[in-house]
Amino acid sequence: MKVIDKIYIDGAFVTPHGTQVLDLYSPIDNTLAAQVRLGDERDVQHAVHAAQAAFKHFAKTSKAERITYLEKLRDAFIRRQQELIDVMVQEYGGTLQFCTMIIQFAAHDFNAMIDTLKDFELTRKIGTGTVHLQGVGVAGIIIPWNMSNGFIVTKVATAIAAGCTVVIKPSEMSAQQTQLIAEVFHEAGLPKGVINFVNGLGDVVGAEITRNPGISKISFTGSTGVGKLIAKGAVDTMKRVTLELGGKSPNIILPDADLESVLPVAVAAAFLNSGQACAAATRLLVPKEKLNEVNAIVKRIIDGTKVADPRDMDTQIGPMVSVKQFERVQEYIGIGIAEGAQLLAGGLGKPSGLEAGNFVQATVFTGVNNSMRIAQEEIFGPVLSIIPYDNEEDAIAIANDSPYGLAAYVASADQDHAYRVAAQLDAGRVCVNGLAHDSLLPFGGFKQSGIGREYGAFGLEAYLEPKAVLGLG
Ligand code: NAD
Repeated sequence: MKVIDKIYIDGAFVTPHGTQVLDLYSPIDNTLAAQVRLGDERDVQHAVHAAQAAFKHFAKTSKAERITYLEKLRDAFIRRQQELIDVMVQEYGGTLQFCTMIIQFAAHDFNAMIDTLKDFELTRKIGTGTVHLQGVGVAGIIIPWNMSNGFIVTKVATAIAAGCTVVIKPSEMSAQQTQLIAEVFHEAGLPKGVINFVNGLGDVVGAEITRNPGISKISFTGSTGVGKLIAKGAVDTMKRVTLELGGKSPNIILPDADLESVLPVAVAAAFLNSGQACAAATRLLVPKEKLNEVNAIVKRIIDGTKVADPRDMDTQIGPMVSVKQFERVQEYIGIGIAEGAQLLAGGLGKPSGLEAGNFVQATVFTGVNNSMRIAQEEIFGPVLSIIPYDNEEDAIAIANDSPYGLAAYVASADQDHAYRVAAQLDAGRVCVNGLAHDSLLPFGGFKQSGIGREYGAFGLEAYLEPKAVLGLG
């Protein structure tokens, strides 16, 4: 069993002032995997002081210096890439396939931010004056457990590019992953106080980050409910906020799409990260006249979907992160049954042979009405709803009939047609004919999926304050 009893402040691993110890269990078999000593408000205050002191110098670094720091972080990250993948699989049960992809994307995020910064004008002549874009100050970074180090890399790379210093609060369930990435960043050798980590609970450490006047901006990824709490708290000190929240993303299969080729991708998009992904395509919208054909193909795909130990390279769905998350997904499967949706595959209970861990059956409801709770609410597990539509106008209306607007997907044999439909969807990212990612393009939500964008130039602007300098002389 691992013991994590240090946090990282001012360039050193230190014992937290907080004394609460939390047990962390393996999602694969629920054995005790680690114990973490949590930080408290005093630890946040200590980290904020360090970050404020570091900001005085770091804000004045040149573009070239920041690029060098980003390169050092990237190189240190790549050196320990395999360990970063392994701890991700073990700690929260992400599949080896998914975790490998995420850590590779994260390494690439440093390069994408280096390219963004190279092309980004931090000083601009506009009208009669000059606009200087300066780092907003100390950034508080609060993130969930479902892709912890991927989120940390995206946010830290952007903060460094902007000349900001950071205090990071990962999920208390991600302590082992946090320990490793803190070591990686320490090895990169940035000036002390630029990057700080405080493990702790949301209503203790997260709340102090939200409240602390030394923090100028919060970049939060997590649930819509907690995002609203943070936004409300942050306004007291007028912190800037970027909120990356929940989703219930639609995937429109247009009538001309080849079902045999698009449906395997649609199922993979729904079960991304074992369904624990904000951008998972959990509402599959199909032409009404093709519903029976879709049902038959999806059933066949699910029969061949491997729910198993996430350490096996061919596992497609691993366990839920915790017993609590398992129970939440079970509750939603029960709700779908009670609402009268037709269970096409999966259902309540664990897959046989996997009773020790937090495994859920790959579950598909069909004939779902978009007003049902299973179509409106984020489940965050491997549960797909197939929703029939009458015509294209109806499909677009159903897709947009959601409190969320994070991602959307469209499939068609006619690429231009798919783009015309994509243009009518209220979502921050729309993928046409497949799953795609580009770390230069903005990511974030319409409606209750969030405020602001991450990645590329849009993400960088969110860590900068424009200052106009003008005069008569
Ligand atoms: P969560 O909102 O419960 O927790 C996220 C983080 O906020 C954790 O670090 C938690 O400790 C902290 N927190 C909790 N209460 C707090 C408070 N009162 N003040 C400050 N911080 C607090 O989310 P989760 O269960 O860890 O993750 C799942 C959610 O994250 C899902 O809703 C999912 O859609 C969302 N998510 C969004 C994106 C995105 O990019 N849009 C990506 C991944 C996950």
